[in-house]
Amino acid sequence: MAPNEPLNEAENLLEPHVEHDEQAFDVSLRPKRLHEFVGQAKLRENLGILLEAARRRNEPIEHVMLYGSPGLGKTTLAHIIAEEMGVRIRTTSGPALERVGDIASILTNLEPGDILFVDEIHRLNKIVEEVLYPAMEEFALDIVIGKGPSARTVRLDLPRFTLIGATTRLSLISAPLRDRFGATYHFEYYAPDELAAVLRRSARLLKVDLPDDAAAIIASRARGTPRIANRLLKRVRDYADVRADGVIDAASAEAALKMLEIDMHGLDRTDRHILTTIIGKFSGGPVGLQTIAAATSEEVETIELVHEPFLIQLGFIARTPRGRVVTEHAYRHLDLQPPSRPADGQEEAD
Ligand code: ADP
Repeated sequence: MAPNEPLNEAENLLEPHVEHDEQAFDVSLRPKRLHEFVGQAKLRENLGILLEAARRRNEPIEHVMLYGSPGLGKTTLAHIIAEEMGVRIRTTSGPALERVGDIASILTNLEPGDILFVDEIHRLNKIVEEVLYPAMEEFALDIVIGKGPSARTVRLDLPRFTLIGATTRLSLISAPLRDRFGATYHFEYYAPDELAAVLRRSARLLKVDLPDDAAAIIASRARGTPRIANRLLKRVRDYADVRADGVIDAASAEAALKMLEIDMHGLDRTDRHILTTIIGKFSGGPVGLQTIAAATSEEVETIELVHEPFLIQLGFIARTPRGRVVTEHAYRHLDLQPPSRPADGQEEAD
């Protein structure tokens, strides 16, 4: 394969950004109420208390930060919070708010109790972020009128609203912004039985028959991520329609996943390419992220956001102070002989 040739279709399955036509699919499968939201037991319990307390006091909830890998349900949960509180939700994202005017017009159009959902909040620019400080803390918007020496600031009152921020990169959020959130919830990867429950629910909504063994197979390959589980279900359904008379069972699920080159742990071709590159070109590491990206022709951000966390979670890659190292466990998974080397490298790098 040529180094820059796009990898297989399976690559789209991990795409963190949702394309427009997929959004409708995502929305159609989105649970609407907290009791339909599968998994994340601890988070759900804490959030349930926050919502109930606000309801009893008849107040809007505090500002909430949702943080976790793409596709784990942050947007879904923000909508559920609005539904549970019986309030409107306005949605935007960090990159969409380019100028002060963008955020000012959204803020001034809010009604009391509204939720403002800002996805990818780590990508807000500094000027917009600074408008949010008084807005979040004092429900006020400071507007500068005029220019030069005659410029003056006018303070506008805003309705009491709730900001829900979502991010995949909590470390990129400045301390002053982080401090203004009353609660921060971390999304964990889902266990296979939780993903199987997500899949059964989706199958019901899509009106497809999904036997338990097929659900278990798809769930175990979905990288702990509901969005990926749903995408795989869609692909398995397509495969079954074309090659298996529309019957989804263990055999057709296995065959579809094999065609997508997704292995028993849910690794796709890119994951394996990353591992075999570190092994083949860098003797298994340690090697830096930038070097891995250059050697695999992948983007640093994609490796950091999509592939590395999952490979670390599986124990296939370890971060060390000198770079990433492929573990013995990964060699065995790839049917390769691990090198004999001192077992350094199990410590965290950064
Ligand atoms: P994020 O905002 O974290 O990237 P989303 O909220 O868009 O993720 O979730 C992606 C899709 O996965 C949703 O459309 C929904 O269908 C499904 N999903 C996510 N979390 C859950 C959950 N806990 N239970 C059921 N389905 C879920």
